[in-house]
Amino acid sequence: MAEKKLDIPQDMQSSLVPEMLNLDSKIQFNCHKNISCYNQCCKQADITLTAYDIVRMKQHFDMDSSEFLKTYTVPFEMDAHGTPGVKMRTDDDSVCIHMTEEGCGIYENRPSACRYYGMGVMSRRDQGSTEDYYVYFRNKEDICKGWEEDHEQTVGEYRESQGLLDYDEYNREWMQLILKKKSAGYSIGKPSDMSMQLFFMASYDLDRFKRFIESPAFAKVYLLEQAEKDKIVSDDIELMKFGYRFMRHVLFGEESIPMVENAYEKRYEERKDIIEMRHKVEVDEYKRKEEERKKEALRVDDERQDDGHDADACHGDSCK
Ligand code: SF4
Ligand code: SF4
Repeated sequence: MAEKKLDIPQDMQSSLVPEMLNLDSKIQFNCHKNISCYNQCCKQADITLTAYDIVRMKQHFDMDSSEFLKTYTVPFEMDAHGTPGVKMRTDDDSVCIHMTEEGCGIYENRPSACRYYGMGVMSRRDQGSTEDYYVYFRNKEDICKGWEEDHEQTVGEYRESQGLLDYDEYNREWMQLILKKKSAGYSIGKPSDMSMQLFFMASYDLDRFKRFIESPAFAKVYLLEQAEKDKIVSDDIELMKFGYRFMRHVLFGEESIPMVENAYEKRYEERKDIIEMRHKVEVDEYKRKEEERKKEALRVDDERQDDGHDADACHGDSCK
């Protein structure tokens, strides 16, 4: 299965850009159990998961998010900054581990990318507007015979038949976060490991994020009314939405969560010894690596010179 086009606002001016469709556009597509390519798309699975996909699937399996991620997903980097992403685990032949002879083993909670197979979707924003909207396009893979069927429907009907309304609503903000990160970068230079870890936790590992929200460490920095906190930690969707808010706050400095006065300074004071110790370890490690690098460069230089001498010797009288 080719990777789904959930976030690809590439060069829209390119002559290769496919025809853009809206919800009223008519398409001729059908996917059903008797089609000759049934299950073929699941045998070449390359499924990037969204935050909401993971909520649905961890609920399906009644699993803690950390356990779910370990069992059913593989990590990958979504961009050159190393923004963490997760993909559905497959077997060694790229067959999705949820595929059964009868079809998808998690059909009612299958990810967005599987629901959109056959279609591509992307979020757009017109110049000067603050509103995003989705546009759609045909994604005609050779293996997919759905486009040869004569069933006519609108994109909106297709979307509804695939149960995508919730998915589109909840994925929208997460995709905006990723697009914002891609276009604007993080607030200060290259993202730190810590911001990447927070992105991972707030996007995918929601049960760990919940434990973080309930921890004294969170309360020392962020001010949330108890009623609001209770609402967030008792519902996965609320938790996911708070995760989006948290990422905007932490990654883009939007200050969407009230903070304890001088929280960072107080936290620094409390953890000063640990932070300085960590810093020292990092500096020592950097020096050690630099030392090794220099030694290696010297060793390679020496070897080159030795080779040069040997070559000279071989071309001299002693080799005749
Ligand atoms: S999750 Fe289901 S629909 Fe998606 S690739 Fe796996 S088996 Fe196919
Ligand atoms: S019609 Fe397309 S989406 Fe449906 S089973 Fe065949 S390849 Fe998969």
